[in-house]
Amino acid sequence: MTFDKLNLSPDILKALSKENYEKPTPIQEQAIPAVLAGKDLLGCAQTGTGKTAAFSLPIVQLLSKQQVPPKAGRSIRALILTPTRELALQIYDNIRGYAQFTRLRCSAIIGGVSQKGQEKALEQGTDILVATPGRLNDFLNQKQIELSHVQILVLDEADRMLDMGFIRDVKRIIASVPARRQTLLFSATMPPEIADMAKSLLVNPVKINL
Ligand code: AMP
Repeated sequence: MTFDKLNLSPDILKALSKENYEKPTPIQEQAIPAVLAGKDLLGCAQTGTGKTAAFSLPIVQLLSKQQVPPKAGRSIRALILTPTRELALQIYDNIRGYAQFTRLRCSAIIGGVSQKGQEKALEQGTDILVATPGRLNDFLNQKQIELSHVQILVLDEADRMLDMGFIRDVKRIIASVPARRQTLLFSATMPPEIADMAKSLLVNPVKINL
């Protein structure tokens, strides 16, 4: 299997060859066609399996095929929630690489750094937002962010978000995005709370177990 068999655009294939990705990992082989087909996804996968690209590449593909408005008129169309700053920055860096030959813009909202720069990035227009739940909730409380155009929601490392006490924040954020959307949930383990959450959030999900 090669990436060009996965219906990814030339812009993305070019980025992948620049990043020296030669072939998709097993989770990418399974997830990319499902996400491109608009399906919800339940992925049981650890870090190191290539799961970031498994959800990011089809998101970049789907959004870059839609018409991209001028920068300032853009809205957040994909939202990725992840438990830690480090993970958020890694995902952000990866997406910037995958989207480097497209016109899509990605931003990160994380705790522990000043809010000002993040507000500015949002004002300038963002298509894909990577965020940690606590800081994103602060933005929501202050009405500093608009999530009503989100089409794709990713919950990354859901079990860790639960362990870190973020579930209330996560639920509040989910209530702020449209109910009609595509949802992708990744978790290394499936404790009952996460299984319940998956049941209530995902519609006929494709299930991937690695
Ligand atoms: P992840 O599991 O998403 O944290 O990815 C682990 C590492 O593998 C990251 O450094 C990725 O950039 C890299 N990676 C992901 N997919 C591929 C691939 N298909 N080929 C080569 N490297 C990859």
